[in-house]
Amino acid sequence: MSNQTGKYFYAGLAVTSLLAVLAGCTNSETTSTNTTAPGGGSAKPGRPLAGSASAVKGPCGDERDTLIQAYKQISLTLNCNDFTRVRHTQYFSFSQLADKGGYQWALLRDPLLISKDKGYGLDLIRDNYAADRQIASAYRDPVHNKAVGGAPRSRHLFGDAADIRNVTRSREEWDRMWTAAQKAEADYIEPLNGPCQLNCLHADWRNHEGDYNP
Ligand SMILES: [Zn+2]
Repeated sequence: MSNQTGKYFYAGLAVTSLLAVLAGCTNSETTSTNTTAPGGGSAKPGRPLAGSASAVKGPCGDERDTLIQAYKQISLTLNCNDFTRVRHTQYFSFSQLADKGGYQWALLRDPLLISKDKGYGLDLIRDNYAADRQIASAYRDPVHNKAVGGAPRSRHLFGDAADIRNVTRSREEWDRMWTAAQKAEADYIEPLNGPCQLNCLHADWRNHEGDYNP
């Protein structure tokens, strides 16, 4: 839930390119081929959208078009294949990781989902803790994030954060999870006075390289 900015933002270029596309320029993608989204996902604009910028019809042909529009408002340009309906980890299913807000699609970045034997990621927290863990909230779409009062650039929007439930709500369990997250190379662990308080532990891997994948 932190509002710290990730390190891979070049979305301004992509927006500029998109505006050029909408203005009728051709081959404007050649100016943005080096533009990448956070985590290395492609940030090239898709085909020009039909109708106004607020139209939800787009190249994906489903609710991903609505999500792509919502992400443009926070300067992140995405493609249809950046979203998934199936990604999961050894310990956590897609439905545990995806938003509870109603969309079937989610953004989930590799460093959150990566195999624990790589030395970091969510599954390694669970292994370090050595007991089952529950996810209070992982991915959140922009509309839901706003509704629950999440930070405008919360890492939950970018699919590399998880709030892990503190089942007993004790300081002892919270501290053990904090240590487990630190050993799992989380780039940011929210302090106890963050939004989770004693209800959960927020960890994210914002600075680890990795893509979105379908
Ligand atoms: Zn969080």
